[in-house]
Amino acid sequence: MTENPGLDDQIRALPKVSLHDHLDGSLRPSTLIELATVIGHELPSTDPDELQDIFRTNADSGDLLKYLEAFTHTTAVMQTSENLRRVAREYVEDLAADGVVYAEVRWAPEQHIAGGLTLDEAVEAVQAGLNEGAETVADHEGVMVVGQLLSAMRQADHADEIVNLAIRHRENGVVGFDIAGPEAGFPPSKFAPAFTRLAQEMLPATVHAGEADGIESVRGALVEGRAKRLGHGIRVAEDITLTTGETSRSKTSDGGEELVEVELGPVARWVRDRQIHLETSPTSNLQTGAVSALTGEPDAELAQHPFDMLYQLGFNVGVNTDNRLVSGVTLSGELAVLASAFDYGLAELADFQINAIESSFLGYEEREALAAHILEAWQ
Ligand SMILES: [Zn+2]
Repeated sequence: MTENPGLDDQIRALPKVSLHDHLDGSLRPSTLIELATVIGHELPSTDPDELQDIFRTNADSGDLLKYLEAFTHTTAVMQTSENLRRVAREYVEDLAADGVVYAEVRWAPEQHIAGGLTLDEAVEAVQAGLNEGAETVADHEGVMVVGQLLSAMRQADHADEIVNLAIRHRENGVVGFDIAGPEAGFPPSKFAPAFTRLAQEMLPATVHAGEADGIESVRGALVEGRAKRLGHGIRVAEDITLTTGETSRSKTSDGGEELVEVELGPVARWVRDRQIHLETSPTSNLQTGAVSALTGEPDAELAQHPFDMLYQLGFNVGVNTDNRLVSGVTLSGELAVLASAFDYGLAELADFQINAIESSFLGYEEREALAAHILEAWQ
C-alpha cells in the first residue's frame, strides 16, 4: 500500500485504537453473502471478492447514494439477535486480527428492529457478540477492549428513546451516544432534550459533524450536542485561515509556500484549545466528498486532506476506518496510506493512537492502562 512494505507490517503488528467504525458498514463480505442467502435478499454479487470490489468502486464513484446503497444490504441481514451477535463477534475478531486493542463500535439500534426485536434485545445481542469476540481474543493471549456507541439517526425522530436506551445499558457495554445521518437540515438543536438528558446523566456524546456540512454544523455539535468528540470534524478547517509569505507566493527552498500566519476562528479555536478529538477517516472523507467540499475540486486526493494541517496546528486528530466493508479499508491500511501521503513515521502514527485512547469514552484508570500498553509497544 505504501512504498514501504516493512512499515505496513509494523503498523499491523502494533496496538491500535478504533473510535469510529460502524457495525453495519464493516461486515465480512462472506458473512453478508451467507446471511443474505438465508433470507433470500439479493446482492450485487455472491462472490466475496467481487462484492467487496463493487462496494469499493461504488464508494469511490463520488456518488453518495451509491456509497450508501451498501447499507441497505447490510442492515437487511442484521435484523435478528442471532445475526447481530455473529456480526458483532466477527467485528471484534477482525479488528483484533488487524492489531486493534481498543474499539468503540457504533451502530443505530433503530435500524435493526424491522424483524421484531426490541431496541433492548438488539443492544443485548450486539453486546453478547462483542463479549464472545473479546473472549476469543483473550483465549489467544490477545488484548481487546470494546464498547458500544449508540447512534440515533438525524433524519428520524428517536433520539430520546436512543438516549434512554444508552442510559439503560451503560453498565453493560454502552459507553456513549452519537447522532449520524444527513447533517444539513437536521441540526443537533432538533434533539436538544435528548442531549440535555444525556448530559444530566453524564454519558458522553460524539457527534458526526463537519463531514457533510460546514462550520455551523460543527458549532451545533459542540453547543447543542455538547460533543466531547467530532465524527470526522474535518470541515473545522473552514474556520482556519492560512496566510502565506510576502506576495503570497514566496517559495521555500523545497518548493513549499512559506507560512506566515495562522488565524483560527472561534469554532476552530474551541476545537483545538479544548482538544476536542477529531475522528477522521481518510478514505471515507474522500469518498463522501468531505475533502472536496474543502478544496472545491470534485476529485480531491489524500494529499489534499486537511489531516496534516490540523495535526501540525496542534489539533487532537485520530485515524479511523468509518466503514471497513463499504470503503474497502482496514485501520492499518488507512494509517499506511496516510503515512505515505504525509511522510509520517512510527512516532507520528503513535501520536494518533495516544490521541484516540486518551479521547476514548473509557474510564480514567482503564484508559491510562491501555495508553501505557500502547505507548510501550510503539516505542
Ligand atoms: Zn461515521
